[in-house]
Amino acid sequence: MIISKSFKYRLRLTKEQQSLCNQIAGSCRYVWNRALALKKKTWEEKKQRLSRFDLDKLLIEWKKELVWLTLPPSQSLQQVNKDLDQAFKNFFRGRGYPKFKKKGIHDGFRLPQGVTLIDQLSRKVGRVRLPKLDIVGFTKSREPEGKIRHVTITKSCQNWYIAFNCEIDIPKPDRRAQSEIGIDRGITTFVQCSDGAAIYGVSPLKKNLNRLVKLQRKLARRKRFSSNWKKTKLKIQRLHFYIANVRKDFLHKTSTQLAKSHSLIVMEKLKTKGMTRSAKGTKENPGKNVKAKSSLNRSILDQGWQMFQQFLSYKLNWRGGELILIPPQNTSLKCRICGHISKENRINQEEFQCINCGHTENADLNASINILAEGHSVIACGVEALASTLKQELQTRKPEMV
Ligand SMILES: [Zn+2]
Repeated sequence: MIISKSFKYRLRLTKEQQSLCNQIAGSCRYVWNRALALKKKTWEEKKQRLSRFDLDKLLIEWKKELVWLTLPPSQSLQQVNKDLDQAFKNFFRGRGYPKFKKKGIHDGFRLPQGVTLIDQLSRKVGRVRLPKLDIVGFTKSREPEGKIRHVTITKSCQNWYIAFNCEIDIPKPDRRAQSEIGIDRGITTFVQCSDGAAIYGVSPLKKNLNRLVKLQRKLARRKRFSSNWKKTKLKIQRLHFYIANVRKDFLHKTSTQLAKSHSLIVMEKLKTKGMTRSAKGTKENPGKNVKAKSSLNRSILDQGWQMFQQFLSYKLNWRGGELILIPPQNTSLKCRICGHISKENRINQEEFQCINCGHTENADLNASINILAEGHSVIACGVEALASTLKQELQTRKPEMV
């Protein structure tokens, strides 16, 4: 079975290479924005769609017009047109309309070919030969595996990173482990498994909230765009980056652990609508008051769940397992013994006591067992149930696409 896996490292660039990376990323951003504007205009004025091949032809013209566009590797610029094409495909499938890119936000570029790993300098420093940039070093935190398909170079918090997207041939998974669990999501208990195991979450944001608020106050006092303002701004970005990394690391470890020991995992489907919107609002207006802070907290927590679900799904697939998502309905209010559903069954956040049969249990554990049972009925109903949920989903999604 061929799977694709990505390996990300911090680059060790010379001053010249750094400025070259900035220039390439800038050119890619320029091509993206110009192509997007043109696509928009052609559609609005002539109702015509520009394909990426049309845009590749135009790119040749733009290069004649602007000398600096000849500096980046041509494949990186063509890749931009390809990515834009994909962004539009995603849009027609119900995702957001492609956005114009701003300097300093998601700076980067892709190299679809011409990448060769060469002998490493030392145990900790790997080296790779890239088009135009020649030999660059990177901090080798682990060994990349498989065959490199393409690389992505990105900048965050003034540092450059390289991600190798690799194709790995893994042995066909056997489904010897037939363990099945339901998991209930929580805040203090990150996941409660139906087999009784509980995994507690990390809260890097909560731990760093005071520091973050202090830095944000400091930023507000600084004169905008002054050198001190920039310094504080960078500190805030680095803190956010650190928090995100702690969380991501935790999500990776937890999902690997669960996918390794179980072949079927049932989880409640997340409600994603509005989550990204609230996160956006707080990003532009970060943590000025308690309300904004708590919504920031929430939105990041939600994003973590989205990521966790994604990790869990592909990691289970690699091992021949499966993730089943069920619609969230009364799983926390239903007694797993007699099936009685009532709000009064919940004494408090932690405890569950059935008012009908008297069954007492940890509330999350009761919910996770219900979730597993719900998963089994989804499997039993099979294709029919799946088709109806998909239909429902499409119906609810439609208005968003317009
Ligand atoms: Zn009961």
